[in-house]
Amino acid sequence: MATSTVLPVRKDLIFNTYLYTVGIIGALLVLWGISQVPLYRPFLPFVLLTALGVVAAFATSTIEIRDSGITYQVGSVAVLAGLAVTGLESAFVIAAVFNFVVWYIKPQSGANWRRSWSQLAFNNGMHAISTLMASIPFVVTLSIVGEYTTWTALLPWLPAAFIYEQVNLWLLICVLRLQHGPEIDVLKLWREDQWATQMGILVLAIGSAALSYGIYQYDLVAAVIFFLPVLMSAYAFRLYIKQTQGYLENLEETVKVRTADLADLNTQKDAYLAVLTHDMMTPLSSIRYCTEMIQDDPTISLEGKQLSELVLRSERTLFTLVQNILDIERIATGQDLIQAKEDHELNQLTKTTLELMEPEADVKELVLSVELTKQPTMVSVDAAKVERVLQNLTSNAIKYTPMGGQINVRTWVTDAFVMVEVSDTGYGIDAEAIRTIFERANRASEIRDKAIGTGLGLAISRSLVEAHGGTLSAESEVGKGSTFTIALPKQG
Ligand code: ADP
Repeated sequence: MATSTVLPVRKDLIFNTYLYTVGIIGALLVLWGISQVPLYRPFLPFVLLTALGVVAAFATSTIEIRDSGITYQVGSVAVLAGLAVTGLESAFVIAAVFNFVVWYIKPQSGANWRRSWSQLAFNNGMHAISTLMASIPFVVTLSIVGEYTTWTALLPWLPAAFIYEQVNLWLLICVLRLQHGPEIDVLKLWREDQWATQMGILVLAIGSAALSYGIYQYDLVAAVIFFLPVLMSAYAFRLYIKQTQGYLENLEETVKVRTADLADLNTQKDAYLAVLTHDMMTPLSSIRYCTEMIQDDPTISLEGKQLSELVLRSERTLFTLVQNILDIERIATGQDLIQAKEDHELNQLTKTTLELMEPEADVKELVLSVELTKQPTMVSVDAAKVERVLQNLTSNAIKYTPMGGQINVRTWVTDAFVMVEVSDTGYGIDAEAIRTIFERANRASEIRDKAIGTGLGLAISRSLVEAHGGTLSAESEVGKGSTFTIALPKQG
């Protein structure tokens, strides 16, 4: 099996010189062959082999697989058989006729007509040169084998077919190399084609041997019968490829339909989740309201107070989870994340959040320290959203820092931004994981089991900060701790 490329028009001098050289050599060899036609003896087998070449071209032609094409060696079988039966010059003519028919029946538009002409010339030259080279080992082996018997009938064909295939292949590889430059790994390309080449050599050697043997030993009809199995198997292969291509096209269509179905189901699931989480807000608010009332009861026992605090903490965790799911839905559907911005004092926002987080930090005996700007720092923000970001960062710091660790929250001002930093002395995040922690549902694998989480908090926090025109970044070292920094644009 030999591949034939669709050659693009190239202005490159070396490439064009190569194409024209191969084309011209081919044309000269064919012209020489044609000039000898009247001298062909016997003449009828030549006509028969040419006719078989034409039939082979129609039966197998070229199959396009992506941007390369496959032709079968069936046409070449007739060419090499011609070499033995009516001589080298006749083989050039049979090859030229075969090439022409393959080229002619291949669909072509006006736009690639010129390109097709150069392709015809090149393919013709390629087969003529391969035939010429194959004739050398053929003649040499034949002279070594001596007497022509049934058993020696195959021998000269093997080296001839081998050389024919290899010359063909290398002439083509050179085209690709000149077309695409050094990015083409010539040896890799050669190796990749080996399975097909070996098959091609066998088909070519056995087919040509059988055909010429048939012509020598029997009459022309018998020769045709010898040729038929080769032709039929190539035709079957062609049908198989066509069927596979059809199957692949169907498969692509099926994948498209299934993907659309999945996207649809995903939207339905998101909508369902949004309704579900929204409905959870009301009972959660009731739990909080009732627990706070219990806590306010002056007659409550110490144990009752501790239990109610636990209920409140669990409620807050659930509430944050529900809020996160709703926000992710908002981000996915492109809704506004922040409502009206108002002027707020940053240190006050920070303190309010930290007060809320203190009980959680106490449970793990963490030291929660704060360093705030001396002067009040005004920012124009959606306060509830900034508090959520701070709450998320502090809650993470608490979750991912072992008992007895330290958490520090700092605010300061630069030329263009007001900054808030939450740092901890916790487990830290490795360099690989830190690249993706701001992505939705991404959790660092090593510390996944250290705390409950959904991996949504940081993705939402970053979106919330960005919706304010700011940035949220992270730095971390495994075993030492992490620092998350919010930068919000200064007012005015
Ligand atoms: P969650 O905490 O619910 O898993 P987040 O989006 O808030 O989701 O965090 C994403 C991941 O980033 C966490 O699962 C954790 O692996 C890592 N992470 C976040 N904050 C810290 C921190 N302070 N220390 C160590 N790892 C952290």
